[in-house]
Amino acid sequence: MARRSRLTRAEIETLYASLAAERPDPRTELEYRDPFTLVVAVALSAQATDVGVNKATRRLFAVADTPEKMLALGEEGVAEHIKTIGLWRNKAKNVIALSRLLIEKHGGEVPTDRDVLTELPGVGRKTANVVLNEAFGQPTIAVDTHIFRVSNRTGLAPGKTPDAVEAVLDAVTPDAWKKGAHHWLILHGRYVCIAQKPQCWRCAITALCRFKDKLPDPETQARLKAEAKAAAKLKAAARKAKG
Ligand code: SF4
Repeated sequence: MARRSRLTRAEIETLYASLAAERPDPRTELEYRDPFTLVVAVALSAQATDVGVNKATRRLFAVADTPEKMLALGEEGVAEHIKTIGLWRNKAKNVIALSRLLIEKHGGEVPTDRDVLTELPGVGRKTANVVLNEAFGQPTIAVDTHIFRVSNRTGLAPGKTPDAVEAVLDAVTPDAWKKGAHHWLILHGRYVCIAQKPQCWRCAITALCRFKDKLPDPETQARLKAEAKAAAKLKAAARKAKG
């Protein structure tokens, strides 16, 4: 019997159990000290790697780790510390604006409500979800490029947009797995289910994954490539011989 394109409830349970077994204590790879520095780090991470952001924030947070200190540092000062990451001009502007808003409207504290969080400059739904999950332990799932890919390839939560995938993930992820789901899926996408070359041969969920173009191990890949090359050569020689 053909398998349905979406994972069954039992398979979803197995998927999360398998990913959790691999990484029992998943965490964000962004370095932060408290909710404020996490908001800043996540806001800076758009179109930048966590490693690159950590390098910049280590210097930045050493001089400014509160909204007040950030305001005192000023836009130029922030920019100096984050010039190594993409979109730094705009991000420096947002960091200052969000620090000001936190002081003026929230007593310098990071709000714990998603709608209020997304009112902060540079904080979209994805950033807000990461902050709520990581800093405040809420069972939110922020859909980034890795989670979007893994959700669609596996059949866990297919969807055409990040918002659509988030809605499906929210509906199909059992409560027991919701808190860690964001981390498990993101790390799986970053290190195993890689965009160009998914490492299906060493993937813990390959048996249930619905992706049609799973890659074999590198040795088999090399052999298949060599066989295809040899076959193409033979074909070309046969064509030539025919005249
Ligand atoms: S089997 Fe391949 S495509 Fe499926 S989740 Fe694993 S790495 Fe990704």
